[in-house]
Amino acid sequence: MYVLVNLIHRCRKPLWYHVPLHLRERHVAIDDVVIVPLRKQTIVGVVVDIRVALSAQDRCHATKDVIAIQTMPPDRFYAVFIKKIAAYYQCESIYFLMRLRQFLNKKRSVECASELTHVGSEADATVHLTQEQQAIVEQLKISVDRNIFECSVLHGVTGSGKTEIYKALMHHTLSLKKSVLFLVPEVGLALSFQKKLAQCFSAEVLYGFHSSKTIAEKKQVWHVLVAQRPVIIIGVHLPILLPINNVGLIIIDEEHASHYQEQRHPKINTKDVALIRAHAYNVPILLGSATPSVASLHNVETKNWKLYTLSERFGGHFPKIKLVSLTDKKKRASFWISNELYMAIDDRLAKKEQTILFLNRRGHSFFIQCTSCSFIVRCHACSVSLTVHEHGTLSCHYCGYTMREPTLCIECKSEALVKKGVGTQQLENIIRALFPSARVARADLDTTAKRRTWEATMQAFTAGDLDIMIGTQTITKGHNFPRVTLVGIIWADIDFHVPFFNATEHAVQQLLQVAGRAGRSTPYSDVIVQSMTQHDVLESLDERLYRSAWYVQELEKRRLTNFPPYKRLVELELKHTNEETVHQDALELVLALENYVAVHGLDVDILGPAKPPVYKIKNIFSRKIYLRSISFQVIIVLYKSVKDHKRPSSLFFTPNPQQ
Ligand code: ADP
Ligand code: ZN
Ligand code: ZN
Repeated sequence: MYVLVNLIHRCRKPLWYHVPLHLRERHVAIDDVVIVPLRKQTIVGVVVDIRVALSAQDRCHATKDVIAIQTMPPDRFYAVFIKKIAAYYQCESIYFLMRLRQFLNKKRSVECASELTHVGSEADATVHLTQEQQAIVEQLKISVDRNIFECSVLHGVTGSGKTEIYKALMHHTLSLKKSVLFLVPEVGLALSFQKKLAQCFSAEVLYGFHSSKTIAEKKQVWHVLVAQRPVIIIGVHLPILLPINNVGLIIIDEEHASHYQEQRHPKINTKDVALIRAHAYNVPILLGSATPSVASLHNVETKNWKLYTLSERFGGHFPKIKLVSLTDKKKRASFWISNELYMAIDDRLAKKEQTILFLNRRGHSFFIQCTSCSFIVRCHACSVSLTVHEHGTLSCHYCGYTMREPTLCIECKSEALVKKGVGTQQLENIIRALFPSARVARADLDTTAKRRTWEATMQAFTAGDLDIMIGTQTITKGHNFPRVTLVGIIWADIDFHVPFFNATEHAVQQLLQVAGRAGRSTPYSDVIVQSMTQHDVLESLDERLYRSAWYVQELEKRRLTNFPPYKRLVELELKHTNEETVHQDALELVLALENYVAVHGLDVDILGPAKPPVYKIKNIFSRKIYLRSISFQVIIVLYKSVKDHKRPSSLFFTPNPQQ
């Protein structure tokens, strides 16, 4: 018996392989994943054809044996689903199967899983849903029962008890012998949710599937899926690609998070893929957030999506918000700490209450500059300045390159070097100097290698063993710290000027999420928002005004500028090691696109080519072009007309790009 195998190697034609006798006990089928030899490697492929015998010509090429056949969990919709996402991302189906199989790759080293105590389902009986929660659960249960594709947005203010709704729906779905896919935007959140859910679901039904899990744990999930047991799977990106025959509900928490888009090409957006999956499988999907995305809220208005609201916190009250300018000339102990913030921190320390200080920049300061010749120390491989870190090192946040901090200017040898901007490390030093008796910790996640320290800090803070926690965006989402009564936002407008259509949306969501950490279970709390410039967005930095004030204004801006959700947007990125080459390729690509649009009378705007703010990473230069139209299908037609043109640069396609 022979199988024709589509190999993961790009530009390779499918090859015939012989299936040895010992593998034939298992029925081989089209779309099965197989491991085959190719030169000196063993690689993954997908079966695209099966023959009992081959023509003499084909047989002389089929000299090698299949090494192993992967048992795929049964899933009747899987092939259709994978084809749909391959069409959406304009890439080969095999790419997704390769991603899926990566976890069986022995080379990847992963940390040990954290200890979990499963209490089981009895403990859950103590929670009584509020009337508001119960009403929402009852509505959503109907969609789960009926097995219908339905998108629902759960807009629940911070601390309103969205998790209790998820839990009730999980219980219900499992009771129908169906599985739940529960996705969160970061591994840290996946870990903390798994801990929370372990209090009410047994180890037989609750599984994590993400980069912090060991290969053995992931294989266990695979076996459970092969056995078709109803389960809850928590993860970030990978679970959405798992074959699950009995999936009955998909929940996307923090649905506004841009982290659902992967960093590397093809930039898969797990939320978008989940929507495609829910549609293909005819199951309901629930998108929860305290700050729902503009796109989702707009779909409620235009596409019949359901909207459920939790407008009150379960315990605690909303914080009082105070705006403070950093540019006033008042005398203060440190430029970065206004007198208002200083006094508020002092007050919390006296009352033994906790404070969070948020600054969305890692490192000590932004960069080093020479005041004599204006030279800035930059990365040799990326188009960014090096960030100053503690202990006299400079590092590149894009490629990881580090060097010793210079004592003289590299250009003019002057000693007049100054550090500009502020990062969390410097903020920590400032706070320690201003409040020497306070117990202070910094929780910004540089790399996954530091995840253990990060988790320990989060735990110590939750337990009340710290007074002040300083952090970047990793502390903003989802975490519940009951004793926090003060949140200080050090530099609120730092990310307002990023040149991307939804930059303000992300900045506002982030600020509201961090502000939402205050007053989770106390009658009073404060958020002090420091900023360099006046910005009308800061005036409506109250989550209760999110839909009525901020969203309405933002939507109007999008309408006037023709950006999503009014039009569909696709990003084309060209990459090459030579800047002149990528530049030429981008110009030619735009010409070809414009030509096709003119000849065929398509309604598509072509924006660019643009040199991105960071146009070189690891010595690879890039240029971007945006395609904008009412119709995604028209954009695909246009893209297909240029996709396979010969050009030195690589071309990447990203639908619905996030910043
Ligand atoms: P959200 O995810 O909406 O920010 P959480 O789900 O974390 O909020 O809920 C905030 C707090 O309120 C948690 O400590 C949670 O246990 C509690 N809570 C919410 N609803 C209930 C309920 N019905 N009964 C008991 N506690 C609840
Ligand atoms: Zn100089
Ligand atoms: Zn670099």
